[in-house]
Amino acid sequence: MKVLVIGGGGREHALVWKLKESKGVEKIWCAPGNGGIAAEAECVAADSGDVAGFVALAEKLRPDLTVVGPELPLVNGLVDAFAERQWPIVGPTKLAAQLEGSKVFTKEFLERHNIPTAAMYGAYDSAGVAYGALCAVDWPVVIKADGLCAGKGVFVATNPDAATDFIERVMERNELGDGGKRVMMEEVLEGEELSFILLTDGERYAPLVVTRDHKRVFDNNEGPNTGGMGAYSSDELLPEALRRDIISTVVEPTMKGLAADGIRYQGFLYVGLMLTEDGPKVLEFNCRLGDPETQAIAARIEFDLAEVLGDVAAGKLQPEKLKWKAGASACVVLTSGGYPGKFRTGKEIHGLEEAAKIPDLKVLHAGTKREGQKILTSGGRVLGLTATGATLDVALEKAYQAAGRIRFDGMQYRKDIGRHGRQISAAGD
Ligand code: AMP
Repeated sequence: MKVLVIGGGGREHALVWKLKESKGVEKIWCAPGNGGIAAEAECVAADSGDVAGFVALAEKLRPDLTVVGPELPLVNGLVDAFAERQWPIVGPTKLAAQLEGSKVFTKEFLERHNIPTAAMYGAYDSAGVAYGALCAVDWPVVIKADGLCAGKGVFVATNPDAATDFIERVMERNELGDGGKRVMMEEVLEGEELSFILLTDGERYAPLVVTRDHKRVFDNNEGPNTGGMGAYSSDELLPEALRRDIISTVVEPTMKGLAADGIRYQGFLYVGLMLTEDGPKVLEFNCRLGDPETQAIAARIEFDLAEVLGDVAAGKLQPEKLKWKAGASACVVLTSGGYPGKFRTGKEIHGLEEAAKIPDLKVLHAGTKREGQKILTSGGRVLGLTATGATLDVALEKAYQAAGRIRFDGMQYRKDIGRHGRQISAAGD
């Protein structure tokens, strides 16, 4: 099997890692890939939003299977273009990807099918109407740009001044681009978050192991939001009663709702949940795997990923094929100094080989590039140190041991990844 992976971050390196271990895989291309992926697959240049470019690339390479990492090509209709040509691909169509592409579309879907979520105050096409609506909300209020905003479109406003400022930046100054042309407002939910990701062929589905990620840049959840500073997965995160609850109140109604609306959803469906006192509620859907959640999930894969993804593309997923390593996994992200604000790139990374000697540890690359014999930083999130262990403590210890062996100018990372999970285990939950 020849496989094309689309994307070039840590998530795609994790996919390439597991696809390469799959029995039937003889060749992997990654478009565009990165400095670490280049050691395991052939990297080809690509522009993430360019559907025609990917079609031309696939025309040339003729992959047996294409796996899409990021949301942009999905929302732009890449899967529709491949489906027209009957080329096997894993991912939802443009319409199905609206579950990520439009918060209003998603909220209407959730309400129509009685799936628990935060109550919406309204959706607004003009800043004037949005300002007016602030008179009738409880504080704090959550304001969300409707479209794709690269993780910057959600704001929890504690008072009218902060809300007005966000609406002005998004709707009047267009700081988030077209994704901010419309906003919606909803109530704040309280609780712990959980990432519950499904793999589905449109009819059958299989849940992946659950994960929790850390979005804020500094320890103790301080500082601005990032793409993700780390993630972990452990059996303790999903007690059986909670699993049943999520399946019956969220997953089953979502699958049935998609079918009732005539939306065939194939690929990964990321369900972002808030575990509230009233039960799990949907915060968001993403139409693809998360980053760095994928790194923690991939580390626990004990099945042939290429075979399972091939089944999905062919519409014949066999959920029982997905087997997982018991225990836990953790991914600690190393970033460039200054991220998520301004940062410098082009710094040489030292210690990669020493880190790779740690057992059950994989150094997954995100923002890196190869230059001769050197690996240089090329983005904000640089590496994801990903380890497994019988317990979360063991997995974290290996990931942090690896962090201690790697050096580059300005390197920063959180020291408290998985802390919540460790508290749970300590409480015997
Ligand atoms: P979203 O892209 O909709 O998931 O929002 C990004 C993040 O904002 C979530 O992971 C939550 O941390 C937070 N968030 C979104 N909606 C709410 C809500 N209704 N209540 C509290 N936090 C929220």
